Amino acid sequence: MRVGIGYDVHAFGPGDHVVLGGVRIPHERGIVAHSDGDVLLHALCDALLGAMGLGDIGQHFPDDDPRWRGADSRKFLRHCATLLTEHHWRLVNADVTVIAEAPRLGAHREQMRAYIASDLDCDEQRINVKATTHEGLGSLGRSEGLAAQAIVLLARADASKRGR
Ligand code: MG
Repeated sequence: MRVGIGYDVHAFGPGDHVVLGGVRIPHERGIVAHSDGDVLLHALCDALLGAMGLGDIGQHFPDDDPRWRGADSRKFLRHCATLLTEHHWRLVNADVTVIAEAPRLGAHREQMRAYIASDLDCDEQRINVKATTHEGLGSLGRSEGLAAQAIVLLARADASKRGR
């Protein structure tokens, strides 16, 4: 088995929505990022890449590469899913925490799980999405941005259970 951990943060900027877990959520501000700035999926991709020993998201999708400008981060996640298959790993579970004062995620959580499970070709029960505030402390507490942490467990793929 292998574990991997991921962390990502992006600043708020001009805009009217954020993207988290592939879900577009209306918000009074947008995200400053080269891609769609989906901190949840970026943290999850980093955790998956870390568990596989394949570096980090910046190596696979450089933020100075015009191909990834405004990119849908689910593309990054699906690339990680391809790498899992190629390297004979399967996801045991993934647990993700979004840290933000706003927006509230509760109403969107199941859609996020569904998208992630679909992109990773696994059961939704293997994916958990949590949210917490920063209790008003520091830059996240002042709503200057939002962050996410992810942890994953991988196991060697058994041909009869691959992807499940
Ligand atoms: Mg990022």
